[in-house]
Amino acid sequence: MLKLTNVSLGYDGHPDTLHNISIEINKAEMLALIGKNGAGKTTLLRGLTGLLPLRSGKITCNDKDLASLSTRERAQMISVVPQAISLPAGYTVYETISHGRTAYLNWYGKLSETDRKIIDHAVALTGLSALTEKEISTLSGGEQQRVILARALVQNAPIMILDEPTSSLDIHYQVALLQLERGICRKEGIAAIFIIHDLNLAARFADRIAILHNGEIRAVGTPSEVLREDLLSEVYDIPVRVLHDPDEGLIIIPRTGIS
Ligand code: ADP
Repeated sequence: MLKLTNVSLGYDGHPDTLHNISIEINKAEMLALIGKNGAGKTTLLRGLTGLLPLRSGKITCNDKDLASLSTRERAQMISVVPQAISLPAGYTVYETISHGRTAYLNWYGKLSETDRKIIDHAVALTGLSALTEKEISTLSGGEQQRVILARALVQNAPIMILDEPTSSLDIHYQVALLQLERGICRKEGIAAIFIIHDLNLAARFADRIAILHNGEIRAVGTPSEVLREDLLSEVYDIPVRVLHDPDEGLIIIPRTGIS
C-alpha cells in the first residue's frame, strides 16, 4: 500500500538525516517506528506528510507518487494524528471532528450528506456518540485523544500517521487508545505508522516494528524479531533486558543496576 524506495531526507545546510530508507507498509497493518531521540523518526514523518521534500527516492501510495499530489490530494491519502496538542477551544466535538473533512469540502465549505455520514461513522468507531455536542475543553485527555483520532479518520485516508499518540496518557488510556486504533485499522483496512517510545506498547500493538538508527532503518520485522537484547542495547546505548511473560509476551526493561 505505502512504499518508500531509497528515500533520503535532510534539512537545508545539513547532510542527510535519513538515507536510503526503503520500507513497505501493508493494508490494515500497524507499524511502530522506534529509535533513540534524534534518530530521525519525526523527520521521516515530515517526509511522509510532505512537510519536508525528499532529497532522493520515491514514496508511493497504491502506486501513486506522493510528490505528484496536491496538498488536498495528499490529505485524502494520508491522515495525521499529531502529538498531544491542545485542540482549539470553543468548538463542539462534532465541529472539531468535521474539521477533518476540509480536504473534501467545496469552496463554501458546507458539509454534505456524505460528509455527515462519514463523520457519524468516525464518531461511532471512536465511541464518541454521547459526547458530540460537548465543548472540547470539557473533555478528559483520553476523550480528546479520541476526538483527534476521529478527526483524522474522517479524512478517509488509507494511511494514518500517529506521532506519539500515547505520550500524554496514563496506562489505562494508552492501552485503550492503541486497542481502539488497532481495531479501526483492522476493520477499515487502514495502514498505520506510529512513533512510540514505550517498547512494551510497541511489542503489544505493532504488527511490525522498524528501528531507526544512524540515519537508516537498522531493523524491521515482527516484535519478536526486532525487540532483541543485543539490538536494543546497541541502538539505545544502554543494556536492555527482554523477558517473556507467559500472558503478555515480551517485556522490555532497561538495565539500571538498581533493584
Ligand atoms: P526523532 O524524532 O527520532 O527524535 P528527529 O527527526 O527530530 O528525531 O531529528 C533527527 C535529526 O535531525 C536530529 O539530529 C535533529 O537535530 C535534526 N533536525 C531535526 N529538525 C531539524 C531542523 N529543523 N533543522 C536541522 N536539523 C534538524
